[in-house]
Amino acid sequence: MFFGQPITYEEPVFRPPSEWRSLLIQVTIGCSNNKCTYCDMYRSKTYRVRNLDDIKKDLQKCADSGMAPDKIFLCDGDALGAPMEVLEATLDTINELFPDVRRIGVYATAENILEKSEEELKRLADKKLNIAYLGLESGDDKVLHMIVKGNTAEDMVKASLKIKSCGFKLSTIAMLGVGGKKYSQQHIENTAKVISQTNPEFFSFLTTFAVPGTPYHTMVERGLIEPLTSKELLIEMHDILELSSFDLNSVIFRANHVSNAHPLGGTLPKDKEKILKTIKGWIDQTPEGLYPTAPERM
Ligand code: SF4
Repeated sequence: MFFGQPITYEEPVFRPPSEWRSLLIQVTIGCSNNKCTYCDMYRSKTYRVRNLDDIKKDLQKCADSGMAPDKIFLCDGDALGAPMEVLEATLDTINELFPDVRRIGVYATAENILEKSEEELKRLADKKLNIAYLGLESGDDKVLHMIVKGNTAEDMVKASLKIKSCGFKLSTIAMLGVGGKKYSQQHIENTAKVISQTNPEFFSFLTTFAVPGTPYHTMVERGLIEPLTSKELLIEMHDILELSSFDLNSVIFRANHVSNAHPLGGTLPKDKEKILKTIKGWIDQTPEGLYPTAPERM
């Protein structure tokens, strides 16, 4: 059950962990990319932009039921890719019905960001669409190519800097273990480079699991990707953070997704040494050869 209970959602619906209290509004259905090899979130859906009248009806139902959300999250997979007229009209309706809404968030791909002009992104930010969640996954081009992410590390950097300069807060997500053992070292080094170049306001990790039915799972089954052990995943987390440089603006760091074995959080660079020490302790305690158990639902 979601906070937006009066709405009938086109399931499944996903949102970032930090949007757990947000009203969820579906602007698009599915994901316009829908090709990332590890992802099964929207494989059951065919991508489309919802009819504007239906979006407005959902918002009106929420207003009629007395909701006064502090935060709203626009679904599904990459709603920032919706046309400007749909996004602007949705945001205008939100601001009219819920004048006290503080923040509106959205998942975005690098492509979504690069396709929109700076002027367009600024217009959206002015209407309170002001946090974008970007699945960087890796800063390594070889890994990005292997997982069919559809963007290069350079695209990720350009998109990150662009959206930040247009008034959005950026929440960047990297995936531990996504390159398997073979590409682990370059995944660490190049992900740290992208994080250092972009300094998102929020940075988090997910742990990669080979979900049955995905091409990633098939590659693991065929021995083309060798998954990381629990210890190796922790080493990736430690080394990416250690190699990343953070400027004086604080980065809120979280590794509290259900896929991660150990919840962790803090402010960077202030808490960096403490966080690294905590991860080092976990690495020392974790036996060799142990693999993490996939959560029931990510
Ligand atoms: S990871 Fe994101 S961009 Fe890739 S298919 Fe899944 S929802 Fe779409």
